Amino acid sequence: MTGSICVLAEQWRGHMSEVTYETLALGREVADQLGIPLTAILTGSNARELARTLGAADSVLYVDHPLLAEPVPQPCAQALAQVMADRRPRALLVPLTNVSLGVSTLLSIRLGVAAVNFCKDLTVVDGQLRALCVMYGGKIEVTVEAGGEPAILGIWPGARPADKGRASRPASTIEQITVALEEPRVRLKKYIDPEAGDVDLSRQDVLVAVGRGIQSRDNLGLVEELAKTLGGAVAGSRPVIDQGWLPLSRQVGKSGLTVRPKLYIALGISGAPEHVEGMKDSGLIVAVNSDPRAPIFNIAHYGIVADVVETLPSLTAAIGAKRSVSHHA
Ligand SMILES: Cc1cc2nc3c(=O)[nH]c(=O)nc-3n(C[C@H](O)[C@H](O)[C@H](O)COP(=O)(O)OP(=O)(O)OC[C@H]3O[C@@H](n4cnc5c(N)ncnc54)[C@H](O)[C@@H]3O)c2cc1C
Repeated sequence: MTGSICVLAEQWRGHMSEVTYETLALGREVADQLGIPLTAILTGSNARELARTLGAADSVLYVDHPLLAEPVPQPCAQALAQVMADRRPRALLVPLTNVSLGVSTLLSIRLGVAAVNFCKDLTVVDGQLRALCVMYGGKIEVTVEAGGEPAILGIWPGARPADKGRASRPASTIEQITVALEEPRVRLKKYIDPEAGDVDLSRQDVLVAVGRGIQSRDNLGLVEELAKTLGGAVAGSRPVIDQGWLPLSRQVGKSGLTVRPKLYIALGISGAPEHVEGMKDSGLIVAVNSDPRAPIFNIAHYGIVADVVETLPSLTAAIGAKRSVSHHA
């Protein structure tokens, strides 16, 4: 595996995460451009069966250990450090999710190499890996070259479609690796499942999502009106939930729900990567924001640069009028 591109396969409670396949697809592209193999590294407990789902890689290394059963970054980084010291890959791609958050940073400390996080794309330029990273909630993009080997690259969800990283058969080589792990200082005590919400956002065709740009709780009525007119439900970005304006069951994003409605209307939402992660696969995205440079416009199919509080009544009225015409036609 010396000189290979490695991908950390993220699994959680016995299921492979979608981001694993996305990251494998990206890893495959850069490995092919560099003319080197792609290796998946899986850490977990009873991981052998899951290792068989990683056929997009040329080979799979899996580490089976009871301390790796839960997604705690410290033992995972410890295990990876041992595998990497032994196999010396060219780069390791680590999915950057709540499950794997912290792994790339802890690993870089252990190996004494740089970690480049928040990468949304990787390219090969003159034989070197170049990362396109997002900063400041998606407002700035920077190009980074990781100095030293192995390069540790934290990959943002959505870098490639997951389907490109799936394979119908297992990799030709699946090898178990044994590591020695210390008892971690951080332990997962229990999972707290989200409360059953009044509305299941993941089943809605239309979501009207509201962000900090709505200014005040008093304006939520305008948002509810629009949702009612469209036959949809109201969702929110994290600040709206943190302020208690909507319940947690309505939060979309990294620490909320992932949704794929037919229509997603983002009202006064900046489009930070943590929010976009949860709604980027919506069928049609319409954004209203007073800042023409808001990152949400990078993924919106239609954008309205306007004050959302001023625009909502006329938008709702116009949609309502259209719908009543089409109902009577
Ligand atoms: C580990 C982690 C997990 C996270 N998980 C989530 C998550 O699950 N979901 C989530 O949403 N965020 C999450 N975040 C937070 C995320 O980084 C952003 O801070 C958040 O998404 C910003 O919410 P916002 O767009 O509503 O607010 P802001 O970023 O403050 O944006 C407000 C927007 O409203 C616009 N605006 C202001 N006034 C008006 C007006 N009158 N009319 C129209 N537009 C206006 C502004 O131009 C701006 O673009 C997470 C962050 C971390 C670190």
